[in-house]
Amino acid sequence: MQPMAIEDGYFHLGGASVSDTCLAAVFVGAESPLELQEFKIPDVKPGNILIKMNMAAVCGTDAHNWYNPEAPNPIIWGHENIGQIAKLGSQAKRDILGMPLHEGDRVLFHSAPCGHCYNCIMSLRCTNSIHYGNSKVDRNSDTMLRGGFGEYMLLDPDPAIIRVPDEMSTERALMSVIGNHTVMGGLRKIDGPTQGDTVVVQGVGPIGMGALIQSNVRGAAAVIMIGGPSHRLDLAKELGATQVIDIHEYPTPEARIRRVKELTGAGPDLVIEASGAKTSVHEGLQMVRYGGKYLVIGLILPTSVEMDPSAIAAKDLIVAGVVGSKVENIIRSMRVMQSRIDVPIEKMITHQYPLANVNEALQSHVDLSAMVPVVNHTLS
Ligand SMILES: [Zn+2]
Ligand SMILES: [Zn+2]
Repeated sequence: MQPMAIEDGYFHLGGASVSDTCLAAVFVGAESPLELQEFKIPDVKPGNILIKMNMAAVCGTDAHNWYNPEAPNPIIWGHENIGQIAKLGSQAKRDILGMPLHEGDRVLFHSAPCGHCYNCIMSLRCTNSIHYGNSKVDRNSDTMLRGGFGEYMLLDPDPAIIRVPDEMSTERALMSVIGNHTVMGGLRKIDGPTQGDTVVVQGVGPIGMGALIQSNVRGAAAVIMIGGPSHRLDLAKELGATQVIDIHEYPTPEARIRRVKELTGAGPDLVIEASGAKTSVHEGLQMVRYGGKYLVIGLILPTSVEMDPSAIAAKDLIVAGVVGSKVENIIRSMRVMQSRIDVPIEKMITHQYPLANVNEALQSHVDLSAMVPVVNHTLS
């Protein structure tokens, strides 16, 4: 048997048995296709857990970084993940809820908060720990397998791991970490909508749909969705939207503001920005009623824009933003997905690709042909 060769920091098959290695799609630089490379599957130390991936979603962050010359590489993307436990370290026995873990269990997972940074102490989202699928790691170390676009992932000791109930579909479980957990954190922070409130959501992508679903869970009386194209608006209606405003029919901010006022009178109680469009905040602040709330989620990339912030004070508004998610909201999101959401949320996963076609998955996000494209590791 030939020895395993290491070239450029990567392990390559040299006659070693296939079970010692796995494939992963590596981002090697802006505007280059992700490369399928072979990696040695590392030893599972007492605190580690080895995950065999089931499904990983392509997120807007990945699509953005694909064109970003500053994006760190090499890196294995895939941060919205569900997988099965392939191997449990001897000390990894229970999930975060205290449920016993077994090899073969399906799980959601997230890096655990570090517990000692300022954010952790103040009960904020820890920004001091590695984020699977987002953080660059040493290409020569065992820890390269940290993204969902690989067949296997190695979790650090003491990960935040949540066992997925057997009766829950893989697609539904995955949706609890696509938009819904972030939106849930934002709605809890802004303390809205209150039961009976009217909500307007700007944007009908995965975050906007999460805003729709979570607003309805909180008891909104009506949720009006603004966006396009029409097939996304049709899905929004199926997922519980009361009204939709097509941006092709209402192409200017003035027309949309007028339409929102026609539908709501004084304006909605809560407006949620989930579009990432740079003019959306200026527009949304004009829609919301006096004394209302405005939550910014989609617009997280640096931009500059002319806007009038006077409405924040003049209309006595509460304004908040949110990014990412605390582990707490992943747990809550999955439980709500299991018990409270009776719309066909699985339909948001419109395209499934085998790992070998990961570049097509990315492309389908870039050209907006897919709502949520996923790499399904069980396809070949
Ligand atoms: Zn994401
Ligand atoms: Zn921390």
